[in-house]
Amino acid sequence: MKFLCLALLMLTTTWSLAAARKNDDDLTQALAAQRKSQIKNISYLLHFDLQKKEDEYKGRSILTIDLNRTDLPLSLDFVNNKILSLKVNGQELKKYPSRKGSLEIPAKHLKSKSEIEISYTGAYSKNSGGFLKSTDPEDGSEYVYTDFEPYSAHSLFPSFDQPDLKATFKVSVNAPKDWKVIQNELIDSTKTDGDFTLTTFKTTPLISTYLFFLGAGPFVEWTEMAGDIPMYLYARKTLEKYVDVQAIFKTTRIGLKFFTEYFNTPYPFSKYGQLFIPEFAWGGMENPGAVTLNEKNIFRGPVAISTYEKRDNLILHEMAHMWFGDLVTMEWWNDLWLNESFATYLASIAQDRALNSKGTWLSFFGSKTWGYWQDQLVTTHPIETDVPDVRTAKGNFDGITYAKGAAALKQLHFFVGEKGFKEGLQNYFKTFAFKNTQRKDFINAIAVASKTDLTDWTQKWLQTAGPNQVTTEFTCEAGKIKNFAVVQTPSTSNTLSPHRTKLGLFAASESKLKELQTVDVVYSEAVTPVTEVIGDQCPDFILPNVGDQDYALFTLDPVSLTKTKLAITTIPDPLSRMMVWSILSEMVRNQKLKARDYIEMAMTGLEVEENDFLLGNLLGRHSTLRNQYFLYLNNAERAELAEKFEATLFARVLTAKPESSLQMNFFDFYVSIVQSPKGVSSLGEFLLTSNQPKGITLDQDRRWSILNTMAANGAEVSQNLIGEELKRDPSTMGKRMAYGARAAYPDLKSKQAYWKEFFGMEKLPFSNFKEAASRFHGPNHEKLSQSFAQDFFKKVLTTDWKKHDDDVEIYFEQVFPSQLCNQDILKLSQSAFKKARNLTSLARRSWSEAQDELNRCVKVRSQGLKLSQSL
Ligand SMILES: [Zn+2]
Repeated sequence: MKFLCLALLMLTTTWSLAAARKNDDDLTQALAAQRKSQIKNISYLLHFDLQKKEDEYKGRSILTIDLNRTDLPLSLDFVNNKILSLKVNGQELKKYPSRKGSLEIPAKHLKSKSEIEISYTGAYSKNSGGFLKSTDPEDGSEYVYTDFEPYSAHSLFPSFDQPDLKATFKVSVNAPKDWKVIQNELIDSTKTDGDFTLTTFKTTPLISTYLFFLGAGPFVEWTEMAGDIPMYLYARKTLEKYVDVQAIFKTTRIGLKFFTEYFNTPYPFSKYGQLFIPEFAWGGMENPGAVTLNEKNIFRGPVAISTYEKRDNLILHEMAHMWFGDLVTMEWWNDLWLNESFATYLASIAQDRALNSKGTWLSFFGSKTWGYWQDQLVTTHPIETDVPDVRTAKGNFDGITYAKGAAALKQLHFFVGEKGFKEGLQNYFKTFAFKNTQRKDFINAIAVASKTDLTDWTQKWLQTAGPNQVTTEFTCEAGKIKNFAVVQTPSTSNTLSPHRTKLGLFAASESKLKELQTVDVVYSEAVTPVTEVIGDQCPDFILPNVGDQDYALFTLDPVSLTKTKLAITTIPDPLSRMMVWSILSEMVRNQKLKARDYIEMAMTGLEVEENDFLLGNLLGRHSTLRNQYFLYLNNAERAELAEKFEATLFARVLTAKPESSLQMNFFDFYVSIVQSPKGVSSLGEFLLTSNQPKGITLDQDRRWSILNTMAANGAEVSQNLIGEELKRDPSTMGKRMAYGARAAYPDLKSKQAYWKEFFGMEKLPFSNFKEAASRFHGPNHEKLSQSFAQDFFKKVLTTDWKKHDDDVEIYFEQVFPSQLCNQDILKLSQSAFKKARNLTSLARRSWSEAQDELNRCVKVRSQGLKLSQSL
């Protein structure tokens, strides 16, 4: 309907493009659609002048376009730049309508073939995206780079900044001669004149504006070939010694070969460059030919094998985007899942089949936790969702788009089979190369190749929100199954969906579970009887979704629930064990299991678990176990369990093979959860003496982790030690870690200083803010957190959220006093939320989610007292 109304409007009224922009520097889907119908054949000729020690740069852009109609004004996106001159078809324009984020070229200046030339100066971005500059504190070197998704290309050059207006780019850059200049394309020529070199790049093929890349600085460059594709790798000078170049090139080479063959489509760009970027806000970004990666993936010492595998997965994720996202791009941001779900799933396929990584599907399952979390929030949405404007798009880089969408693709693959899935993809790339698509184009390609009608599947999997809850019900008589059914409850959208899965049936002896059989089940109703098992041996434990092909919120039946300890300690398949861990943690969140019982059971499991990948996911950076330990237990419960929990973990550090991944997993997790006085004093000893457990290397990252925990626990020496450590590690990372560790220290005065910075006039650098905010509310500092709670709900009512699109989540995920987890704070939040008149759609969403989590935490803690069921 939206599009029909738009078409009518265009025919019957004098179109005012300025009026179509609801907010400054925002682009609506309606305007993007209108602009797409107006313009074609776009090419950008871009020149930039970059200098050292300057906050500004100069730019000159020439846009050449064909217009389908010249009776409409043309809206051009451009923000935070000072225009020096604007010429349209050779004629200088002095007056034209403009607003923050865009300008309008009146129709009378336009021809069917038009050329727009703009000279300007711009300043580097202070947000997490745009054209950014970072200075290395160790050697003073400056590095500049772009990060544009979804809507920041127009902060560097005037553009039609929407994914379906693909264009060619021809770029030249005048920069200091000791800088490397990197763009999506290969270098065409260079010419040095004095202290500067003019670098001209070859013309790119058709790409979307958000995929444009420009980076420069004294990067170290490595290069090798992958068949006939040149590979490049870049890192800043001070990190050169830590980069394991060969491992990264090896994964890249194997990945490029795999995807080229699997998609039966050659790599679409001229080179494959990867850059480790200072202070990069995200994990990675898929700029064609110039992928950016977070420096956290350069390891400054030995890490667990699962951490290496996570980096491989990131490399393959960004690489999968070269086809899905870069070669074929979604028309508009409502189909962002086409990019992200696909890259997430196909990265795992490549990792499993080409790299033979043992932990692939465990990690994939681990990432699904993000999807389950997001899908149970009040803000859940369908995988394919309404995105009326780019601000809404920014909020959708979430657990639904990545993890649930990837799980849906895994289910689709299982549903239609390998042949149909693979051939469908191959046809899709052949048909839509260098074009834009919608969901139906992708689904049609799979439907045709697999000869399967996917109408119902699409509606129920992609256009509904919330997980189905699924469990099994059975009765037995004389040791044989009498009745057996899969029971499904409707999702948030009140939908029962079609699923295909496998059920694992186990028998229990005193000491272990033994598999009886695995049953293939297709279900779509509320109750689906499984008749083929009737008369078979009665099981003691049933694991729904063996092999993890399905996506639903699984719970264990009451019989199986009594055997969970045996399940997490004796089921041979690690993925199955991990799924039991996850089911239990979801049951805690849904108040079906006491948090305390779960933590106690976890200790039993952790005493014997040997699988590196399971442990990497269970105990790693995003550990749900750790979050629940700190959030869902109250202080008294945690104090009671702490010594035992710490002792359980430390015993594994001492008995594990020295220097093994297993040992590192246990040690790093131990460091992150220590709170007992005994534990804190041990950490001090590790840091200050050479008395570490045999096999544990205290590299720089581990030293900071130890200091963080000591500071959070108020260890007095930690304040001095932070200063000492900073002398040892004056790098960007060191500065950030010191800033975060100081925020963790439980001292009112110091916290007040941080508070002032969090809400100050000057925006904090994104990465520093993220680090400090994540440590501000310590788990055992309720009194301190309490003293900021009232003020938080005052400040959020006056903050100008339009300036905080990039860091709004930090305010509501970290600065929000969720650690207090009580009714009073919940009420305070709810009443402030009702009063709020200053929220952007993103702020409203983040706040709703924080409040929803708080509400859940309050319920979990109070339910913990009521639940009598004990395992
Ligand atoms: Zn991605």
